[in-house]
Amino acid sequence: MKTIGLLGGMSWESTTDYYRAINKGVKQALGGLHSAEIVLYSVDFAPIEACQNRGDWDTTAEILVDAARRIQRAGADFLLMGTNTMHKVAPAIELAISIPLLHIADATGEALVKDGVKTVGLLGTAFTMEQKFYRGRLADRFGLEVLVPGKEARQDVHNIIYDELCRGKILGSSRQRYIEIVDQLARAGAEAVILGCTEIGMLIKPEDTPVRLYDTTAIHAARAVEWALADGE
Ligand code: GLU
Repeated sequence: MKTIGLLGGMSWESTTDYYRAINKGVKQALGGLHSAEIVLYSVDFAPIEACQNRGDWDTTAEILVDAARRIQRAGADFLLMGTNTMHKVAPAIELAISIPLLHIADATGEALVKDGVKTVGLLGTAFTMEQKFYRGRLADRFGLEVLVPGKEARQDVHNIIYDELCRGKILGSSRQRYIEIVDQLARAGAEAVILGCTEIGMLIKPEDTPVRLYDTTAIHAARAVEWALADGE
């Protein structure tokens, strides 16, 4: 089994979901008392969020490059970053380490293509919904048409992530708002919706809506288990 490097803490609320999902996946595959080999480095999210807010992505890259190098030195065979947003600086991280990065958008794009989805809605932070690093990758590498909510809805989705979900607050009113936005995306032509922020799965579940949801945390964790167990090692 390969050792999974997990760069977490963005936020730690979703890192606990990764930890659980990865271990469950290995247990399911290997049975008995098997569990995952993981090197976890969990960052302090507050300074990273402050940098995001002022658009200082270079400093976020420095922080995450340092963390990724520590994970590599600790013996990880590959790296996953438990956040969609911070894949904005994935190219800098890939340059700084020699182990492969399991990109969250690639894991998600592959799952969508496998299921024959062509037009997909995307929920996430404003950075993820609005900037090219994520939507562009889904379009360019996987031929997906990516729909995002309107301006006001994007703001609500973004604020609920930072003001509530990353602080462990789960509110029924926010769940209703998300479900409403998922329905709007479906009416606009989305065949499925990506939960493109690693905390959204804490708020809405597949049974909350008839629209197919692609939870990036679950997909990313499952793909990490496949990588870890590949080649029969
Ligand atoms: N976990 C979130 C994501 O998947 C947001 C926190 C962050 O900005 O990293 O995008």
